Amino acid sequence: MALDFSLGLPEDVTSLQGVARDFAQARLRQRGQDADRSGEVPWDVLKEAGELGLCAPGVEEAYGGPGVTAQAQVAMMEELGWGNLGLAMAIASQGLLAAAIARHGSEEQKRRYLPALAGEGGLLLASLAVTEPEAGAELEMASRGEQQRVRTEARRTANGYRLDGRKRFIVNAGTDGLLLVLAQTDPDAGLHGASLFLVQQGLPGVQFLGRSETPGLRSLQIGTLDFQGCEVPEAMRLGDEGQGFQIAREVLQLGRVLTAAAEVGTARAAYEAAVAYARERRTMGRPIIEHQQVAGMLARMRTGIDGARLLVLKAAGDLDAGRDAALSAAQANFQSGDVATQGLRNAVQAFGGYGFTQDFPVEMWLRDALGSRIAYGGGDVQLLEVAEAIARGA
Ligand SMILES: Cc1cc2nc3c(=O)[nH]c(=O)nc-3n(C[C@H](O)[C@H](O)[C@H](O)COP(=O)(O)OP(=O)(O)OC[C@H]3O[C@@H](n4cnc5c(N)ncnc54)[C@H](O)[C@@H]3O)c2cc1C
Repeated sequence: MALDFSLGLPEDVTSLQGVARDFAQARLRQRGQDADRSGEVPWDVLKEAGELGLCAPGVEEAYGGPGVTAQAQVAMMEELGWGNLGLAMAIASQGLLAAAIARHGSEEQKRRYLPALAGEGGLLLASLAVTEPEAGAELEMASRGEQQRVRTEARRTANGYRLDGRKRFIVNAGTDGLLLVLAQTDPDAGLHGASLFLVQQGLPGVQFLGRSETPGLRSLQIGTLDFQGCEVPEAMRLGDEGQGFQIAREVLQLGRVLTAAAEVGTARAAYEAAVAYARERRTMGRPIIEHQQVAGMLARMRTGIDGARLLVLKAAGDLDAGRDAALSAAQANFQSGDVATQGLRNAVQAFGGYGFTQDFPVEMWLRDALGSRIAYGGGDVQLLEVAEAIARGA
């Protein structure tokens, strides 16, 4: 039962949405649930997503992608999140790196990486590597003071840079994929002294230290990467020296919006399941949907989902128009994270005791939503971003 919530979106949006919906129904639902039980990441499903053009669909035609808008990407992400939140986040990661390379990359970097990130010739997996053992939320926020810096260092060598440091909670870590690593090139320049580097996993000096075992999002691999004397040629620096935080902020903004869309999808999945269950389950001689408290929970969920979707579309519209999306991206991420986690708690409640068993996927969706809520710093960080945008006059 799909929601009828058309905003008269253009044909490129609805066609990508349709492909994603079919893929989510046919592949993500079941494989996501299997992965939740087994803990094994279905890498083959990510490759299939690449073949269908669902990884990095923002890549322009000249570099092998369909070049769709951010609004089309969020419509796609909602469907993928409806199928499985962890897999949706893994699929989105390619698009984040592709957007950064498309905007700030050299021609060589674009030709080398964009087609592969969009799935040409077998998908190149991708990861944004920002978080460190000692610093997570503070690297996400715009309110960084001059004293803030990245612990991973990139020291100049004769041919480029040498990377030393550690990154945590990195999506798609432990593969042969591409990393975009934030590292300090000038230790004394605080946030103006960080730069970004394109580094292939598996190269000498990059070691995968293992996966983080998580209670939710078990179809997504997040792990720790160690850099010790990792040699990176100068041509693999993305953007100028000192531009790292600025570019990372753009990537994080897009990530916030895409993840928000996926969370709306997961909340919608739970809402649909809860409505169907509440129509069928009877207590006191009538379906529980006729009990006011249950109906009220469903009404709250539906209203939250429809509202969060509008914020997501607004943020995507800002990105498409080249407007500053700091406010709308944080709002969308805050609201969708709230709607997904609160909505899932309600969905589990609507299922009663069955909601707390593996007979139904609602308990898995709740665990997944708790994880995605943290991925971009958490609700408090999003609210701080909103407050800062307001203070700047947004
Ligand atoms: C599923 C998942 C996927 C992820 N994927 C990636 C990835 O691909 N790449 C990557 O680089 N990172 C990734 N992360 C890491 C994520 O960005 C960080 O976990 C997050 O930013 C929080 O950082 P932290 O864990 O170090 O917590 P901390 O920074 O230690 O924060 C702890 C708590 O304090 C709060 N807090 C911290 N500072 C403030 C403040 N100034 N004001 C108010 N509250 C504050 C935080 O909101 C949080 O609740 C992922 C995390 C998860 C869970």
